Amino acid sequence: MPFSLLIALFLAFGTDSPANLGPIPRSELAPKLREILLGVALVASVAGALGRWVAFRASQRGKPSPGLRRLHAWGARGLEGLTLAVYGWMIHDVGWPWVVHSGWGFRGAILIDEMLILLPFLLMQLAGWWGLYPAERALRIRGDVGLGRHLALKARGSLGMVLPVVLLFAAGQDLAHRLWPKAAESLWALPVGLIVMGGLVLVLSPIFVRLAWPTHPLPPGPLRHRLERLARRFGFRCTDILVWDTGHGVVNAGVTGALPWFRYVLLSDALVDCLDDHQIAAVFGHEIGHIAHRHLPYFGFFFLGSLGVMALVFWAIDVSPLAGSSTALRDDPAVTMLLHGGTTLATVGLYFLVVFGFVSRKFERQADVFGCRAVSCGRAGCPPHLDPNGASGDVPATAALCPVGIRTFANALANVATLNGMEHGRRSWRHGSIARRIAFLEGLEGQPDAERRFQRGVARLRLVLALGLIAAALVAWSNDSFPHLR
Ligand SMILES: [Zn+2]
Ligand SMILES: [Zn+2]
Repeated sequence: MPFSLLIALFLAFGTDSPANLGPIPRSELAPKLREILLGVALVASVAGALGRWVAFRASQRGKPSPGLRRLHAWGARGLEGLTLAVYGWMIHDVGWPWVVHSGWGFRGAILIDEMLILLPFLLMQLAGWWGLYPAERALRIRGDVGLGRHLALKARGSLGMVLPVVLLFAAGQDLAHRLWPKAAESLWALPVGLIVMGGLVLVLSPIFVRLAWPTHPLPPGPLRHRLERLARRFGFRCTDILVWDTGHGVVNAGVTGALPWFRYVLLSDALVDCLDDHQIAAVFGHEIGHIAHRHLPYFGFFFLGSLGVMALVFWAIDVSPLAGSSTALRDDPAVTMLLHGGTTLATVGLYFLVVFGFVSRKFERQADVFGCRAVSCGRAGCPPHLDPNGASGDVPATAALCPVGIRTFANALANVATLNGMEHGRRSWRHGSIARRIAFLEGLEGQPDAERRFQRGVARLRLVLALGLIAAALVAWSNDSFPHLR
């Protein structure tokens, strides 16, 4: 998910920007445009310097080291932060929305003004991708992609996922205001709107994925037969299995769509080429696991249910002494806004970092166990191992994990990490470290009780969290916290 575009959208349309200041003086138009161009140039030059430096270091060593990859990843993240900071400055200090609305008279034009307000951000993103291109080229797993295709892939990946959702949301809001003007102003408009939007996104996400990423169906052949047999064994249905064309830049897989008759499993081109068929089946099993355990709808519920928690946080911040005190410094509205916004962002960020991260890591492990089961034969004492997804395989979906199955999945995991240039010991917020994921799976070998304990633990976590979220929503409702969300 392209988070920086989401944040940019929030900066541009979710916060109060100086858009209603009346007509802008003609003489201010040129200096403001110059400031916008200056911002874009700043991002372009930082990106260009970083990209060239990483490419230079990679060529010096002959082969890029993990340290250099890590440095590049941090540099790219820093660049995204810089882009957002500059964009925030354009919106709030330069007053870009004001220029668009009053300087050019685009107020009220449907979607044109929004696109123009977003334009500097899109230009900066383009400049960033362009600047980092030499570095990404030097760090590629294999193969080569021209600059034009690289930029097109990046733009499609970033915009294709988010823009349709935004258009849907904008259109939905317009419609709601026109059809039910009273209801659209009510307290329930936000949660109900989010429920509808969340449901639509879960159901329609396969369309967005196909818009965002170039794909083609996995051609018929031994691999496709193997995966289809595996899917049948577990009663898993999907519209198609797609190969995701990344120009061999990414080793990854994913599943999208909450409805069985409108759902895709994606395997990246490099994953299909670099892993053997058994390991690909194991990765495919991991994706089936996410669906079988209903992780997507649960995350939908989690984000929605967190509205109650958010409302309580916002309420607490609003009534805290921080908001009420009136020292000379805090009388300054800018300082108050900064303090208020900073506290809110920090609290909400911490909540998602800790709670969402924890649940996400548990779900990944659950999907990992499913991936092991997908390639297990059920004999605790194997080898000899029976290929459960081969032509002659007749292994029930409920068969226990077997040592070869666990090894196959662990090897697939290790290969994906190595090919992506990740170190096995490095921790990942949403997935946990590869080394620990593998150690956990190996600990399940010959221990059916340990697996049952783990599954019961996850079920308990889901239940307790759900009850907690419902309780928070009830408390927020009873003390009238929901209006603080606005
Ligand atoms: Zn996963
Ligand atoms: Zn086996």
